[in-house]
Amino acid sequence: MLDELRELYQEVILDHGRNPRNCRKPADSNRHAQGHNPMCGDAVTIHLTLDDGGVIRDAAFEGQGCAISMASASMMTEMLTGKTQDQASALFDHFHAMCTKDDFDSQAIDEDPDALERLQVLSGVREFPMRVKCATLAWHTMSAAMTGDGDITTE
Ligand code: ZN
Repeated sequence: MLDELRELYQEVILDHGRNPRNCRKPADSNRHAQGHNPMCGDAVTIHLTLDDGGVIRDAAFEGQGCAISMASASMMTEMLTGKTQDQASALFDHFHAMCTKDDFDSQAIDEDPDALERLQVLSGVREFPMRVKCATLAWHTMSAAMTGDGDITTE
């Protein structure tokens, strides 16, 4: 990757890390889960508001941790609103593959290309296995909130 691109990507991560979006607890949220990444010290609580049809009407988080974990939670909550649980799970699967598989090809996936393109900025963690847990913590926790699994840890 070009150095300028790398810097640009970092700027996106730092911006979300510094000014996280949807960092709040919605009064009407009805799905919650807490996630911990003890290797790094990241902790997030995900709040989802699901309607009767299983569509995510609002997504928010609270927590603290490294810039990558906070940026990932911030970006994720921006993308979830309006998605069904199945769509949210599918996006998580793609994002997880992006962060762990060297041969991941986002072009091969026609579902939600905009979201995948934006998430690409976090895919640099692939080179740093410890950081994969930081990048995916919010997503694992979101998944636990949807399925009612409650608290999760990356260990
Ligand atoms: Zn972290």
